Amino acid sequence: MLQKLLIANRGEIACRIIRTARALGIRTVAVYSDADRQSQHVKLADESIHIGPAPSAESYLVIDKIIAAAKTTGADAIHPGYGFLSENEDFADACASNNIIFVGPPTSAIAAMGSKSAAKAIMSDAGVPLVPGYHGTEQSEEKLLEESRKIGFPVLLKAAYGGGGKGMRVVESERHFHDALQSAKREAQASFSNDKMLVEKYLGNPRHVEIQVFCDEHGNGVYLAERDCSVQRRHQKVVEEAPAPSLSTSTRTAMGEAAVRAAQAIDYVGAGTVEFLLDTDNKFYFMEMNTRLQVEHPVTEMITGQDLVAWQLTIASGEPLPLAQDQIEVNGHSFEARIYAEDPANEFLPSTGTLHVLRTPETSSALRIDSGVIEGDEVSAYYDPMVAKLIVWGENRTVALRRLIQALNDYRIAGVRTNIDFLRRIASHPQFQRAELTTRFIEKYEQDLF
Ligand code: ADP
Repeated sequence: MLQKLLIANRGEIACRIIRTARALGIRTVAVYSDADRQSQHVKLADESIHIGPAPSAESYLVIDKIIAAAKTTGADAIHPGYGFLSENEDFADACASNNIIFVGPPTSAIAAMGSKSAAKAIMSDAGVPLVPGYHGTEQSEEKLLEESRKIGFPVLLKAAYGGGGKGMRVVESERHFHDALQSAKREAQASFSNDKMLVEKYLGNPRHVEIQVFCDEHGNGVYLAERDCSVQRRHQKVVEEAPAPSLSTSTRTAMGEAAVRAAQAIDYVGAGTVEFLLDTDNKFYFMEMNTRLQVEHPVTEMITGQDLVAWQLTIASGEPLPLAQDQIEVNGHSFEARIYAEDPANEFLPSTGTLHVLRTPETSSALRIDSGVIEGDEVSAYYDPMVAKLIVWGENRTVALRRLIQALNDYRIAGVRTNIDFLRRIASHPQFQRAELTTRFIEKYEQDLF
């Protein structure tokens, strides 16, 4: 097993990783910026080390500083969490060349999935179904338009190196093509320093269903069921659940097996998520693979009873997968709601400040809160303004949903604005209660949710 783990992250995910490392007897090192001197992840870790000013470009994103911190403290492994350097192949490389274990996949797998267009080419060869589209290298406007005509409007333009819903534009008809392409390219260039585009058929009412996969160094691969993350705002997840409601056993198995095939096509090791769009006719299409632990991993933990961070650490130390496919069981239903310090009445702009009051529902085996803040802490403008992830479990979807609404009712936050009312309206919405999920849910019922 690993001896000492540095967590190259902050907030709730750093705290969550530290807890599991502790339970496994691994010593922990936190890193922190000027803005995080008093943060919970620093207090929770065995040791901590300062890595620079508040802006993440000068601290959490600086590879050399993280590597130096690991060397100074004698950490033998680094867990990158999500975001920041978690999908940065240079960082994984830097760990390797300094004899530090990177808790994540091999550099080659990160690189293979780093571009959505390259990823699609690999998946197509591995026999994983793709949304009809164009992911070639020729990028002239004429070519992209010609391909869009072939696919048939509406189409979706996507930044090849995109993420977080940025650099994406739905194009309803040919007449909007030019403007949409220009603005997508501009946004992609600004966000990812690369404006390469791909084009996909825009599906009208799909669901976002993703599969949690794990592979070890010994050639084994399994999937730990799926998550439905259809409830999104501007292509960003808001509420997630597992398992995905009303999925037939045959579709579920086919998706799981396709996801493992996808991972094995790139010699994957560790935790990964294969994202699919599920169309109204139950056909599914590969969207992308995220080569890290996802924000929404707890819903999978709740229904499988497994600790995914423990799995990651076990695999990173070279051991085989803890379970075989036929030993993985799914029990009950789980939801996660992302509680944000943001103002739904003001375009969801981040709402920063001091958490003067932070009263949370009581946790139990059926109610979990993953958070990096306590009452009195600051939500700073420098980082993602997530306050907590609220995760509930129930023996079925109805019970879990009732618990979710109750827990949202029990939350009290003062000092910053939050999206709690918005989450409660989603959870209470009749269509959500009936699991009529599509990625356009929020858009469709906008008038009921605000
Ligand atoms: P990002 O990496 O920016 O998150 P994704 O490719 O994962 O981008 O897509 C994000 C979301 O956009 C999906 O969850 C889905 O809601 C929507 N989406 C993506 N591709 C399509 C498509 N071809 N048709 C309809 N919606 C799509």
